[in-house]
Amino acid sequence: MYTYEMIIDSHLHLPVRDNLLSLETQSQELINELQNHRISKGIVIPDNIDNSPIGNLKQCIQLFNNIPNIYILGTVNILEDNLEDKISQLREYFLFNQIVGLKIFPGHDDHYPDDKRLEPFLKLCIEYDKPLVIHTGENSGNNECSKYNDPKYIVGIAESFPSLKIIISHLFWPKVEYCVEITKDFANISYDTSALADKEVVIKTGREDIKYSLEILIKKYNKKILYGSDYGMCNLQDHISLINTLDISDKQREEIFYKNSALLFGL
Ligand SMILES: [Zn+2]
Repeated sequence: MYTYEMIIDSHLHLPVRDNLLSLETQSQELINELQNHRISKGIVIPDNIDNSPIGNLKQCIQLFNNIPNIYILGTVNILEDNLEDKISQLREYFLFNQIVGLKIFPGHDDHYPDDKRLEPFLKLCIEYDKPLVIHTGENSGNNECSKYNDPKYIVGIAESFPSLKIIISHLFWPKVEYCVEITKDFANISYDTSALADKEVVIKTGREDIKYSLEILIKKYNKKILYGSDYGMCNLQDHISLINTLDISDKQREEIFYKNSALLFGL
């Protein structure tokens, strides 16, 4: 197997387990797991509510403040947050390099990605040239929610904001081929592989459909794919193996594992 100098995991959360009794032990576990899998850099995604077992934005920033190889995504909840306060908070985090992008959770939250209330946040990402990461697809045991994150709404903002870097998480599983078809022509849309090796996702979507969709995005449409695992919820090794079994060149694999994340997030 080809071995890589560097791997960036672009999609991590704090692990939640019975034996991890504080955010500090959760963050230490995450750091250990990255080391065990020779992952050199990681991007941690906080929750967008205050009281969460995976930590909120402020908590995640504080936890990893002195860890140079861990980066944080900003999060926003347009249904709950004071939006003016949130914008100035995120602006400050961008300014001091405390966040490297912004994640939204349509489907977890009952709003669409093209909701007008998001526009100042999209413009903030453009101003700092950082990606907007968008949760897509079903939630475990709930397919209704995916109406909120249908990629047909994402191409709307890709078109309205051509300089906005968009990263689609989870490839709108289980409808991965539909996601490829509808988004492939937008130069500012990229994808991460988070949760795509998860058991439930693989069973419902089909392993071959997932691999095929990733391969044609890379080989036919020249799209950027970013390795991400959704660790915390998902298994790191399964996601590394997914990338290693794709029928692509070593150069393309290196781009997925490292270069695309470094480039898009500016790491
Ligand atoms: Zn996630």
